[in-house]
Amino acid sequence: MNIKDKMRARLKLSRPSLRAEARPPGQRSVCGSQFSAANLPGALQLQHCTDCGHIQYPPAELCGACLGHTLIYRNTACEGTLLAQSQLHHSLWEYFKRRISEAPWPVATVRLNAGPVVIAHLVGRDFNAGDAVQVFSHSDASRSVVLLAVSASANIETPQLRQDIVAAIGLDQPAERQHGI
Ligand SMILES: [Zn+2]
Repeated sequence: MNIKDKMRARLKLSRPSLRAEARPPGQRSVCGSQFSAANLPGALQLQHCTDCGHIQYPPAELCGACLGHTLIYRNTACEGTLLAQSQLHHSLWEYFKRRISEAPWPVATVRLNAGPVVIAHLVGRDFNAGDAVQVFSHSDASRSVVLLAVSASANIETPQLRQDIVAAIGLDQPAERQHGI
């Protein structure tokens, strides 16, 4: 590797803004990694406590209701109610900086009918608090699983339909920079 390539490699490490491709945060805790693995095959899998039946999110090592430790990932109903929404206008993460430069990034809190409240990327802008929505999981451009909230009328039956929604907001692709390193 010549000196020019070495300098470029160093710049790439220390200056995310110069990278040709920026990806969403991919670091996860052990519980977060298990959540990603459990959700890859299905629409929405959350931890269910086998002792008390409590369904919880975010994932944890113990049940938040009874401190039981036998938590199993099971298919969970996607339906819920939008509690609040917000638009991100600023981020310290390069991927979202680039996405936000195109348009503010919508996020929402949703109370699932199954119980837990989740934070999700909100697909679309025509929502009000109290609206019926659906939440599903999908891997992003860092191959980590994130949650997305869509309108109750959206068709999310098949993996392909869910993939199309994720692709429409660009979450499955890195944010690119022309002439980046
Ligand atoms: Zn429990």
